[in-house]
Amino acid sequence: MRVIVIGGGTGGMCLAHGLRRAGIDVRVFERHRTRTDGLHGYRVGIDPDGSRALKACLPPEVYDLFVRTCARPPETFAFLDERLRRTLTVPLRPPADDVNDEKSVSRMTLRQVLYTGMADAVRFGSDFTHYERHPGGTVTGHFADGTSATGDLLVGADGTGSRVRAQLLPHARVEDAGIVAIGGKVPLTDETRALLPEDVFPGIGLVLAPHGMACILHVMEFPWGPDGSSPLPGDPTADHVNWGISAHRDRFPAGVTGFDGPRLVAQTLAMTPRWSPALRRLFTLTDPTSCFPITIRTSVPVPPWPTGNVTLLGDAIHTMTPGQGVGANTALRDAHQLVRTLTAGGSLEAYERRMRDYGFAAVAASKARTGGDQLVHRPVVGRLALAGQRAFLRTVDRVPALKRRFEASLYTSRGGDREP
Ligand SMILES: Cc1cc2nc3c(=O)[nH]c(=O)nc-3n(C[C@H](O)[C@H](O)[C@H](O)COP(=O)(O)OP(=O)(O)OC[C@H]3O[C@@H](n4cnc5c(N)ncnc54)[C@H](O)[C@@H]3O)c2cc1C
Repeated sequence: MRVIVIGGGTGGMCLAHGLRRAGIDVRVFERHRTRTDGLHGYRVGIDPDGSRALKACLPPEVYDLFVRTCARPPETFAFLDERLRRTLTVPLRPPADDVNDEKSVSRMTLRQVLYTGMADAVRFGSDFTHYERHPGGTVTGHFADGTSATGDLLVGADGTGSRVRAQLLPHARVEDAGIVAIGGKVPLTDETRALLPEDVFPGIGLVLAPHGMACILHVMEFPWGPDGSSPLPGDPTADHVNWGISAHRDRFPAGVTGFDGPRLVAQTLAMTPRWSPALRRLFTLTDPTSCFPITIRTSVPVPPWPTGNVTLLGDAIHTMTPGQGVGANTALRDAHQLVRTLTAGGSLEAYERRMRDYGFAAVAASKARTGGDQLVHRPVVGRLALAGQRAFLRTVDRVPALKRRFEASLYTSRGGDREP
């Protein structure tokens, strides 16, 4: 069997590793010209679903490189108000084993790790345009530079704007979820360290602010420390704080998604005048080249389609909002499932059925947590919703039994107890 993978992202590269290890002929076609093109370096949380998939698909030395290039795992999850006053802090579970723990990785680094040892399998600068099916059961992928590639199965792993999906399922829709986010990175220095509350520093901070605004804070400290260097050759990743503000799209000026780094920092400051001076100072110290805007999108569930020699995985079929932090993990889970299907003689139809079930369940759960139609975004009701949310979090903070239950809820849908 010859497999053509369109898109060398998280899911596509995990799939390619898994197939290659099983001796299946696989080629990946990636539109970016180099290994590091066009990528935002935000933090991705890898859960047990994601780690299980990576461990099963990657050669052991590449999985080991992935583990060694993760930041230290978060120890706490702190909820705060916009003045950085704590409403709830939940201690996170200590690392279990190298699959069943939560990992923090820089997206850029993960991408580099996934390209390791795959130079001959990936063709960069290949912008997929369309596919063509042949009567004998083969399929050809065509690229903007006039080249093409033929195989027995074509997998669309080409992300939210998937052209493979557009041709295979022209009725499938991806919608604006009504939320815009701005993200950035601040180098970790003595000054920036001192700006973060002590509850946030060991882990993850989530600021819930008026007008439906939120800000996520991740402290990313790497095992090689401030003076060392990443075990990944050429990886410039160093200790930093990753922040991301989000709000209903109506709170942003038109054209914000076209703003450059300095304007995005200025926009963030303009939207947070009454926030804690420490947090605003952190925004000011952001490396503007690391700043990026995102329109959050979500997919609409697609009814089953006739299985053929073209299939999909990851964001290409079930783009979701970052509400649960499982978009990449679900793409990895798909890749793992597809490898198992193709190597164990399973049915592609069963892969697609299962993937649609858990994929669109994650889409719905993610949208319920992060979506423009939540109460907090409404003018008057929003204030009451925020007050209710804060009262709930403070109560949970004070009652140990509630806190334990809340802690457990953070781990549902992370795949800890799941069979592959
Ligand atoms: C700010 C932010 C934070 C996030 N945090 C998390 C998190 O903590 N945990 C989590 O699980 N998920 C997270 N996600 C989601 C996660 O990043 C995505 O769900 C995941 O990357 C999807 O993987 P994928 O392989 O499907 O697509 P991608 O990784 O997007 O890969 C698609 C690839 O296809 C290529 N491509 C596109 N079009 C073509 C074409 N025409 N021809 C050839 N190649 C093409 C692209 O260049 C890209 O390399 C986050 C997302 C954002 C925006």
